[in-house]
Amino acid sequence: MKVGIPRGLLFYRFYFFWKTFLEELGAEVITSPPTSRYIVQKGLTYGIEEICFPVKVFLGHVLALVDRVDLLFVPRMVSFYPGEYNCPKILGLPDIVRNLFHLSPEQIIDEEINARNRGMREAEMGLIRLGERFTSNRRKIAQALQKAEKVHREYRQQLQSGVLPETLIDGKQSLLPKEEKVLLLGHTYLLNDSYINMNVIEKINQLGYSIVTPDMVPEDRIRLFLKKVPKPSFWTISNEILGTALSYLKERDPKVKGLVHLVSFECGPDSLVGELIGRWVKKEEQSLPYLRLEIDEHTGEAGLVTRLEAFVDMMRWRDSNLESHFSPFAAS
Ligand code: SF4
Repeated sequence: MKVGIPRGLLFYRFYFFWKTFLEELGAEVITSPPTSRYIVQKGLTYGIEEICFPVKVFLGHVLALVDRVDLLFVPRMVSFYPGEYNCPKILGLPDIVRNLFHLSPEQIIDEEINARNRGMREAEMGLIRLGERFTSNRRKIAQALQKAEKVHREYRQQLQSGVLPETLIDGKQSLLPKEEKVLLLGHTYLLNDSYINMNVIEKINQLGYSIVTPDMVPEDRIRLFLKKVPKPSFWTISNEILGTALSYLKERDPKVKGLVHLVSFECGPDSLVGELIGRWVKKEEQSLPYLRLEIDEHTGEAGLVTRLEAFVDMMRWRDSNLESHFSPFAAS
């Protein structure tokens, strides 16, 4: 049975988990191609007004798969961290896809995955129900789950060591190592899809910096700093962005010279998170330069490059100013 996984939203987080699980259950996994102009345009045509750019792109990926597979894989990812949720647009994704593409229940895998109340044990129940679409053999499902979890752990470890998802998934060339770094914040589907972010990672690298993303920060560090936020958000990915930002503002790594935050136009969680980070940055003494870049279908590459170049100038200016400020030879 051919199962199609659209390359959007939580794809860059769970691709290897989903692929391994489905293949162990006997499915043939087909992935939509990397995002392209065609996919974006198709997604915009299908997208309803109120939805954000990443969901529109996801719909373009669905369209690239829908006639090629027996089943579309769009699980309802309610929560993958205890006590938290995913954004409502991610929760409603199976309904959006089913209605827009007129799919019957037999054409879509939309089981609920929910770790909100009882953590991974609860999420596993959803995965077992999902597995039962392929086999009634519970032992086989449990083994598939075990293997998928192992592969997922290894994938996350590689990301933490600095490898990018597109390198692991598509064999994309790794970045050149650089001494100085930029902390790049944002949702996994903005940071890791180089078409929709207009190759921002490569551009920062060409301007002379390595990057650090929330995927590269150990989860316990993110969670430790998140505890310092009086009222964290309801949404896991937003919390990971907040925890990462705070950890680098409070415990400085002298090699990290600035923060770039990719946000999505029409994203409620991003507007809140962006505002909070902006305020923290302003409150810090000798704070790091902070650039917020809004991404949507109208964002132009030339404008993005100009803003990045100006940001690099600002980071260098700040560095040389701080140095001269603390130099024993500086004029008093
Ligand atoms: S968090 Fe924002 S960008 Fe992500 S799906 Fe929700 S609204 Fe869209």
